[in-house]
Amino acid sequence: MLRIENLHATVADKPILKGLSLTINAGEIHAIMGPNGAGKSTLSYVLGGRPGYDVAEGSATFEGQDLLEMEPHERAAAGLFLGFQYPVEIPGVSNLQFLRESLNAQRRARGEEPLSGGDFLKVAREKAGLLKLDMDMLKRPVNVGFSGGEKKRNEMVQMGILDPKLAILDETDSGLDIDALRIVGDGINTIMRRPDKAVLLITHYQRLLDYVEPDYVHVLAAGRIVKSGGADLALELEREGYAEIAA
Ligand code: ADP
Ligand code: MG
Ligand code: MG
Repeated sequence: MLRIENLHATVADKPILKGLSLTINAGEIHAIMGPNGAGKSTLSYVLGGRPGYDVAEGSATFEGQDLLEMEPHERAAAGLFLGFQYPVEIPGVSNLQFLRESLNAQRRARGEEPLSGGDFLKVAREKAGLLKLDMDMLKRPVNVGFSGGEKKRNEMVQMGILDPKLAILDETDSGLDIDALRIVGDGINTIMRRPDKAVLLITHYQRLLDYVEPDYVHVLAAGRIVKSGGADLALELEREGYAEIAA
């Protein structure tokens, strides 16, 4: 599904990613862990197509298409979802409006018919139900006044409605209490743990991986993947710290 080869990327002319390679197949959940400043967020921004993150060398393909040549909205329409540490607030736009617009923009870009208001509501109700989110929350402005846990539950509903093939979640667990962590974990397992989907979880801590068991864990240090293993590697990192493992 995603194949990254020898990726080099710079931010403000500073080399951050220095030869990163990673392959993710459908049905797999991968975790990338690593110390602060290693380039984890840079990787997610480069994959999402954020301006200012320049690829100097290497390649990234998504289902065989050159991801790096695609506009950010084309990447989303192709089935890439990016979740972030700090969800944006959009005063004056309800969650339902925002999600219907987003979904229909993606459907149009794929040459599919946009969903009618009624059909969209059916999808929204179904996903909100799966994630135990009150429909009233979806009528409120996007993320405005939401608690940390509500923002995360909301992000999971966004993910459920957009129904991506690959979700890249960058420190989506940071600052969450145990209840919110469980919501995120359940959300990922419910929506994304399927043979035709894949997840890249970027996290500094092991604790989210108690809820979402990864098939592979990678250590990113100084712009490269320096070690890969199974779920056990996350526990080992937690015990021994990055300095030991990444050395
Ligand atoms: P991580 O997510 O692993 O903590 P980041 O990808 O955020 O790491 O950052 C990697 C490195 O890139 C850090 O040294 C950071 O200071 C630098 N960096 C990130 N964004 C910018 C930017 N916009 N301008 C300059 N340096 C940046
Ligand atoms: Mg960081
Ligand atoms: Mg980061």
